[in-house]
Amino acid sequence: MSAETFLFPCLKDNFGVLLHDSATGATAAIDAPETQPVEDALKQTGWRLTDILVTHHHADHTQGIPALKQRYGCRVVGPRAEAGRIPTLDETVAEGDTVKVGNLTAKVIETPGHTAGHISYWLEPDKLAFVGDTLFSIGCGRVIEGDAQMMWNSLLKLRALPDETRVFCGHEYTQANIRFALTVEPDNKALAKRAAEADRQLAAHQATIPVTIGAEKAENPFLRADIVEVAKAVGLAGEPAWKVFAEIRERKNKF
Ligand SMILES: [Zn+2]
Repeated sequence: MSAETFLFPCLKDNFGVLLHDSATGATAAIDAPETQPVEDALKQTGWRLTDILVTHHHADHTQGIPALKQRYGCRVVGPRAEAGRIPTLDETVAEGDTVKVGNLTAKVIETPGHTAGHISYWLEPDKLAFVGDTLFSIGCGRVIEGDAQMMWNSLLKLRALPDETRVFCGHEYTQANIRFALTVEPDNKALAKRAAEADRQLAAHQATIPVTIGAEKAENPFLRADIVEVAKAVGLAGEPAWKVFAEIRERKNKF
C-alpha cells in the first residue's frame, strides 16, 4: 500500500494529519489547524508538502494555510460551497469529485451539517477516510450551520463506507464522547471495551484515532439512531431516525 499517514496534535485538541504517497513523494496535509506542528511533522517524516485538503472553513482547520502555502507553494483544495470562507484556495471540489495526491485518489463526499459545505475525503483503495468535524470517534460534530436531518444524512453516507475503512477526524474528543455514549447505551459491551482502550491510549499519551467504520457502527450512538433499542433509550421508539439523532445530539449539547 503506497498511502502512509502521520498523525499529530495541534492547538488544544485538534488533530493534524499528513497523507503521503510513497510512490511519488506527494504529501497532503488534511486541514491546517496551525503552521508549526505541520512543519514539525514534515521535518519528522522527511516528507515535502504538496497539497492541503480542507474539510471546512472553521479557523481551527484553516488558519495554518496561508503560511504553509507561502512556504511550500502547495496546492490548496477545499469545498466549493465554502470557497469564499477559506483562504488561498486553488481548487474547489464537490460531491463525487476526485482529488489526486500523487498517485493516490481521494473521492469527495459532501457531509454538511457541522458547516453548510463540509466535505470528507475517502480513499477507497487505501481504506482511509478524512472526515473533519462530521464524525468523531464515538461522537459527531455540533450541528452549527445545518439541521439535524442534514447531519444524520451526512453520517449515513460515512456509515455506508466499508467497515474496514480507517477514519481520521478533526478532534481528540473520544473520552468525553464515550462518557456521554454510555448514558445512551449503558449496556453496550463493545462501547465499554472501547472506554477501557481509550483510557489506556490516553494514559500512554497516544491518540485514540484512527478508528474503523465497523467499530463506530457498533459503538457510536450517533450512528445508531435507527436502532430500536437506541430510539427506546431516548424515549423516541417508532420515531424517524433523524429525530432520534436530533435528540441524542441535543442531550450531548447539554451533557
Ligand atoms: Zn469545525
